[in-house]
Parts: sequence; structure tokens; C-alpha cells
Amino acid sequence: MSKKRIVIALGGNALGNTLPEQYLAIQETSRAIADLVEEGNEVIISHGNGPQVGMINNAMAAYSKTDPSHPSLTPLSVCVAMSQAYIGYDLQNALKEELLNRGIQKSVATVITQVRVEENDPAFLHPTKPIGHFMTKEEAAKAEKNGIQVTEDAGRGYRRVVASPQPAEIVEIETVKDLLKAGEIVIASGGGGIPVIRKGNHLKGVGAVIDKDFASCLLAKELDADFLIILTAVEKVALHFGTPKETWLGQISVQEAQQYAAEGHFAPGSMLPKVQAGISFASSAPGRTALVTLLQKARDGVNGKTGTRIVG
Ligand code: ADP
Ligand code: MG
Repeated sequence: MSKKRIVIALGGNALGNTLPEQYLAIQETSRAIADLVEEGNEVIISHGNGPQVGMINNAMAAYSKTDPSHPSLTPLSVCVAMSQAYIGYDLQNALKEELLNRGIQKSVATVITQVRVEENDPAFLHPTKPIGHFMTKEEAAKAEKNGIQVTEDAGRGYRRVVASPQPAEIVEIETVKDLLKAGEIVIASGGGGIPVIRKGNHLKGVGAVIDKDFASCLLAKELDADFLIILTAVEKVALHFGTPKETWLGQISVQEAQQYAAEGHFAPGSMLPKVQAGISFASSAPGRTALVTLLQKARDGVNGKTGTRIVG
């Protein structure tokens, strides 16, 4: 096998939902990643953070009840930064150990990564993603006074609602490239990256969650990767998913993927962003392949044995 540069985007099931779950899930995740490293590939890892960022947001809110000098809502950019650090900590540790067990001498480094978004991204006008704890009407009013957008969530109370803008630039991309040049395995752009807007020389954190599938796609393009692998809870992408007409897809062209997406085969917020990221990556330059598969099938997927591949 020739050496490939691979960006791996880890989904929720590769990380688990709680701290003990994460510790265990990441051991299996590390074995799947080490398989690709062992075959001689250059690997860059990114990951989601949905449950983790909600947990951190809620934990900080609970803490503020014991110490009211702390604001009850922590900036989401800070929550994302915290999630990158502790997921990166577990991942870099477990992957390093797995590599050492296989006699592979390689450093693993997590880069706290900011991702710039456009201040005028239309997503800011329509925040759609409710996150974190439920608030009373009074708490919600107080939060809104502090510039935090709040929405009524399906009759269950009020919740913070955040926008999901498109990633425009990976701020620490040169650092990632330098580490790759030095032969390191890099974990970057976790949780879609810490969302920031540029104000002159200042990068200002914003209350948003960037989709990790889109951020990983941008990372893969910027690094001129051969593969973008999106690891999730299904081995393949399906047409007519969850119905008697369900058909699993193997290799498809960008045009076919676009057509299936337009026909509504992929659920928004789950499979659609993965297919959209795959289309964007595979059509961005010749020789780029996007792969959606299960964590445990990553190596077989890269070697063409399973998974859904989108090719340009
Ligand atoms: P992740 O945490 O990996 O981002 P998501 O839950 O967001 O995972 O997205 C993966 C899920 O998308 C699958 O587990 C599956 O339930 C769902 N899904 C929706 N449409 C499809 C489809 N057409 N084919 C396969 N899976 C689909
Ligand atoms: Mg998802």
C-alpha cells in the first residue's frame, strides 16, 4: 500500500458519552487509528464534541450556583476549548500507548484549534442548535440580557440556542503542517474548532458550534489529504435509510451523491453534513476520496473493501 495522508473525523460513538465511557471507547478508537498508522499512512485526527460541550456548559452553570460571582453561562468558545483539551488528552495518551505496544515510535500532539467563521454568516441569523441545561423563564431572560440567545425547546423549558456557521479558516493550520512535517500524529480542530471571528489582530470567540464534518473537510483540503474518513455509527450510507427499500451504497460519484442528497436520502444534522463534506472534499481536487464508515472498518474502508466512498 502506498502511503496516504488521511484526515480521520471521529463521531460520537468513537468517544462515548461520559468520562468512563470515553476512556474505554478511545482505546478501541486508538486501535483502529493505529492500524492505519501501521500501514504507513500519515494520520490527522479530528473529532466531534456534542455531548461533551453540553456537559461542560452544564457543569459550569451548576458551579455558578455554588459561587454566584461566576457567570451562569460560560462562553461556548471556552466550552469547546475545554472539550478539545480533555478529549485530546485521552486520545493522545491512548493512541501513544497503542503505538508503543506495536513498537511504533511516533509522537502524538493535540493542537488547541480555533476556526474562523464569517461574522455575517447567515447561520447567525437563525441559530438552530439547542445545547446545555434547561432554564426557567427568569433564567432565560437573564441570559438574554447577557447577550446569549435562548429558545423554548419543545415545551420542556428554555435552552441556549447556538448557530452553526460554516468554517472559513483554520487558524492554527501552519502549526498542524509543521507538526506533520516533523512526523507527528496531530489531533486538531476538535468539536469543529473553537469558533472565532477576526477583529483586526484580535480573535473573538463566538457562541456557535461548527459542524465537525465541515471543519474536518476544510482541514483535509488545507492539508492536501488523499482521504477524508468520517467514522460514525453505520458501516455504509444508505438510500431509503430505515425503510424496507434500504440500499447500502459502496462507491459513488460526486454527481450521484449530489443527486441522492437533493432527493432527501440523508437526514439533516446527522448523515447530510457527512455526505455534503464528502462531496466538497472529493470535488475539490483530483485524487481526493471521502469515506464514510464504522470505526472498526476504517482500514478495510481505506483499502476499498467496505464503507461508502465518494470519488471525484
Ligand atoms: P456522528 O456522531 O458520527 O456525527 P450522527 O448520529 O450525527 O453521528 O450521524 C450518523 C447517523 O446518521 C447514523 O447512525 C444513522 O442513524 C443516521 N442516518 C441518517 N440518514 C442516514 C442514511 N441515509 N444512511 C445511513 N445513516 C443515516
Ligand atoms: Mg453528527
